[in-house]
Amino acid sequence: MADTRARTSLMLDVADEPAMLELGSALARCLPAGAVVTLSGDLGMGKTTLARGLIQGLGHMGAVKSPTYTLVEPYELGERKVYHFDLYRVSDPEELEFMGIRDYFDGESLVLVEWPECGAGFLPRADLVVTIQAEGGGRRVQLQMAESLGESCLECLRNEPGIREKSGVQ
Ligand code: ADP
Ligand code: MG
Repeated sequence: MADTRARTSLMLDVADEPAMLELGSALARCLPAGAVVTLSGDLGMGKTTLARGLIQGLGHMGAVKSPTYTLVEPYELGERKVYHFDLYRVSDPEELEFMGIRDYFDGESLVLVEWPECGAGFLPRADLVVTIQAEGGGRRVQLQMAESLGESCLECLRNEPGIREKSGVQ
């Protein structure tokens, strides 16, 4: 499971799908190469939407399919590699050991993981833990950043025009 100690947390209001895609592209601009990002939240909360915004923000022109059935979708975007996992259908996390999941976390590729809860024990500590909850018709998105991301990533996000931090929440 993701360890949530020593993280900086941002709580955001994300009103609709376009705003979620915009948050993804803000993350594309601010996250360092090699970051590990987990995406948590119930079915239909917008995890894949956020991943789509991020992957397209890195320059992918085509569709971003949900990897629910394939487990992982790889992308090569210029110099950057992205692996988008959806572990929803993993019933025994040991399956991940057999598929060689550790090789994907190579410190250079950006790795996005939906349903990290289904891979407990077989995933490295996330640099960014994203948690999405419904709020009204939109979403409340919490970004918990590990120290490994550094202050510049936080500053970058805070300077993104589309980032609407909820006031009074740390
Ligand atoms: P998940 O991967 O978490 O199951 P999806 O990304 O497939 O969820 O999105 C499910 C639905 O949520 C889509 O119809 C999408 O348009 C919608 N959605 C995504 N982000 C938001 C948001 N911020 N506010 C309202 N609806 C959203
Ligand atoms: Mg999904």
